[in-house]
Amino acid sequence: MQRRSNERRRKSDPWIAGIVLGLAVILGAVAIVLWQRGGIGPTAQEPSSAEAASVSAVSSSLPAISVAADSSQPASSAAPSSQPSVSSAPPAVIPDGEFVTPKGYTVVTKNGISTVNGVLIVNKTYSIPANYASGLSAEMLAAFNKMAAAAKEEKGYTLTIFSGFRSHANQIAVYNGHVASKGKTRADQVSARPGHSEHETGLTADINYADSSIAPPEEIVWMDENCWRFGFILRYPQGANEATGYNFEPWHMRYIGDTVLAQELYNDGEWISLEEYFGLTSVYAD
Ligand SMILES: [Zn+2]
Repeated sequence: MQRRSNERRRKSDPWIAGIVLGLAVILGAVAIVLWQRGGIGPTAQEPSSAEAASVSAVSSSLPAISVAADSSQPASSAAPSSQPSVSSAPPAVIPDGEFVTPKGYTVVTKNGISTVNGVLIVNKTYSIPANYASGLSAEMLAAFNKMAAAAKEEKGYTLTIFSGFRSHANQIAVYNGHVASKGKTRADQVSARPGHSEHETGLTADINYADSSIAPPEEIVWMDENCWRFGFILRYPQGANEATGYNFEPWHMRYIGDTVLAQELYNDGEWISLEEYFGLTSVYAD
């Protein structure tokens, strides 16, 4: 009897050891997976500080084409290392596909880029990938130079690019600066979230100034009346803030290239926004 139970114990010992070993292996594997996913270990704040580091790295290596005036934007007052985490979330992306707007136009979204009749759409609904452009497009710059030459020749006005291309990282800094100084709600009224800014397209520039507290200078009034001749549109017309999501910005020029469409949007001085013309929304997903 005694001998038998001893035998049983001896037989069961390796069996118990096997279970313990098995559990240890499983626990170890779970711990490794959790650690890799960042569920445990030193991670929670790491992405934002890494992002802040990449912001300064990219900002300081912006190509010359991004126009000196860009640095006079609020970006300089932004970019503290204690960024609010709000804009470090990736921009909402419209899934690839097509749909017909209430105005009968087809929006085509491919690889996160949305176009209508070949016109790139970037607003609060439609975003672009972070690496969409690396500077102002050569075609846009050539058109701007023609417009500036015409302003000088016809009226003696000087038009210069005040704020042109902004990299995705730069836009993160600009937007975060607004959020930090005035809160997210107000920031969303005056600054685009990263991925939703036309300044990331390389097709847009603020001309001469960007200040809603002063009446548009005469050269800007002239530009708003004549830009369509050079393929530019007044992107945020007066009274269109419900449609565009932004107040009147007489300085903000968007190059679309198509002068026929630009003239239609000009509408004999009663500018129609891209949103109203094509039947598009401009609202953040959240
Ligand atoms: Zn602008």
